Amino acid sequence: MKHKNKVFDNVLDLIGQTPLIKLNKIASEFKGNFYAKVESFNPGHSSKDRIALYIIEQAEKKGILSPGDTIIETTSGNTGFSIAMVSIIKGYDCVLAVSSKSSADKIDMLKTMGAKVYVCPAHVSADDPRSYYQVAKRLHEEIKGSVYINQYFNELNIDAHYKSTGPEIWKQTEGKITHLVACSGTGGTISGTARYLKEQNPNVKVIGVDAFGSVIKKYHETREFDEKEIYPYRIEGLGKNLIPTATDFDVVDEFIKVTDEESAHTARLIAKSEGMFVGYTSGAAMQAIMQLGEQGEFKKDDNIVVIFPDHGSRYMSKVYSDKWMNEQGFFDSKNEAAAQNIQYIK
Ligand code: PMP
Repeated sequence: MKHKNKVFDNVLDLIGQTPLIKLNKIASEFKGNFYAKVESFNPGHSSKDRIALYIIEQAEKKGILSPGDTIIETTSGNTGFSIAMVSIIKGYDCVLAVSSKSSADKIDMLKTMGAKVYVCPAHVSADDPRSYYQVAKRLHEEIKGSVYINQYFNELNIDAHYKSTGPEIWKQTEGKITHLVACSGTGGTISGTARYLKEQNPNVKVIGVDAFGSVIKKYHETREFDEKEIYPYRIEGLGKNLIPTATDFDVVDEFIKVTDEESAHTARLIAKSEGMFVGYTSGAAMQAIMQLGEQGEFKKDDNIVVIFPDHGSRYMSKVYSDKWMNEQGFFDSKNEAAAQNIQYIK
């Protein structure tokens, strides 16, 4: 473990080398061994620390960035937090254009980490001047000496995971991984990790997790961008209304879609069954495993690795708020019990 008996120079030294933790209960009805790569152990509490540090250090190596310059990005929150953290340590200004779908907590966190934040409407098309893509592009043109990370269209996003997440999982499973299950937003995590793992063993099966309301799964199957697939959904960080070039569709065997409601309940179940307080997309990835398990996908000796991208604390006003769950209509009679676990003594 990287944490034991060691003093670190700064928080950036703690990025990566996250633990792989056995899931003992949640998938016990299925054959196979299940493990979670728990990315909340990064100092910025998500997998995005890896790409923020890697992309910024690549820009430094190329001489594009020098202290005092500005780093710009579009982000649903996690990448912004990681870039803000890296910027503090390395002495850059951080400007972020975020979607209005992002939770208030996330936006407050970004401000706390010294970033300048632009909140842009979520449900406009990518080419609308108000979209966070267009706002970031405009700011990049306006601010002299700025670098635009552009995680959805930056190949370095894939490389970051190819060089870290992939080798870590291969080593931690002693090369015995049979399945990788990971959410796809920019696609950087799944593409880089899968590319590395398939180079070691082409038989590793890679399953991407997509949202209903996103174009990714259909594009993978047909190579057709179908606008009719697009409609609003609640999970942040998963799926997309465009095709990111940071996704290598060739290393993914299959995409599976999960609903907002089931993913929310599964995120809560991970906490209750495994004692792991993880984010909404971790619930989505675990939900995909449940669906695959029910289809009989896994065999006795399979070793299934699921990536849990971030920490639950970022979703206190959403998935972990009973009020929010009720407002979404996510507490039906079966699940209302989740809200009953509290007694007010008067
Ligand atoms: N989960 C969360 C919470 C995220 O913020 C993201 C990034 N958008 C993902 C999953 C997906 O990771 P990637 O962008 O590497 O596909």
